[in-house]
Amino acid sequence: MQLVFLGAPGVGKGTQADKVAAQYGSHKISTGDLLREAVRNQTTLGLQAKGYMDQGKLVPDSVVIGLVRAKLADPDYAKGFILDGFPRTVPQAEELGTVLNERGLRLDRVINFKVSREDIVKRLSGRRSCPKCQATYHVDFAPSKKGSLCDRCGEALIQRSDDQREAVETRLRIYEEQTAPLISFYEKKNMLSHLDGAGAVEAVYQNLTKVLAAYKTA
Ligand code: AMP
Repeated sequence: MQLVFLGAPGVGKGTQADKVAAQYGSHKISTGDLLREAVRNQTTLGLQAKGYMDQGKLVPDSVVIGLVRAKLADPDYAKGFILDGFPRTVPQAEELGTVLNERGLRLDRVINFKVSREDIVKRLSGRRSCPKCQATYHVDFAPSKKGSLCDRCGEALIQRSDDQREAVETRLRIYEEQTAPLISFYEKKNMLSHLDGAGAVEAVYQNLTKVLAAYKTA
């Protein structure tokens, strides 16, 4: 399937995209993950992006569009993908439309995940991740069995700099200003389904698969 997962930071898009990718044999394309990888590898792009990301600001459109273009150029990715965290601005959405047209692709559906602001702040501020194997945890909802160490590889867990309070506030403000307009952008194209992202991962996933079943092309 060819999908876009839309929603504020912390609504659980990434977790659900991993599950859908595993079940449908498609690829998750997370611009956040691609950017963090570039930062870790200290590439030119990573060095450019780091300052924006640490503050919770959006990386310039041209940079993220280039990342997505490169992924969709891979025929294997083009067969099935879930865009997680892209597009985040109207120009990104317009450019995505152009790239898909060029490649003869189209989106099956855009899913808008909805979670209350209070829950989002709880989810983001309690999130911890492993800097070595990238596993993610939550101090209350999905703690590591080894406390502050990664269950998988034993590395000390860290809090992402953009999950700290001030950056979270910035990310939520930017979401409202720049990303929320995409809801009406895709609604007008009759491509949008809303999904309640509150509650347990499995329960959200069950509802998501029901929505996807209605739009899966043969
Ligand atoms: P995420 O993991 O999706 O929350 O992304 C982490 C950070 O990467 C964001 O706060 C932005 O700084 C940057 N980022 C990810 N995706 C995009 C995008 N589509 N446009 C601009 N910046 C992005």
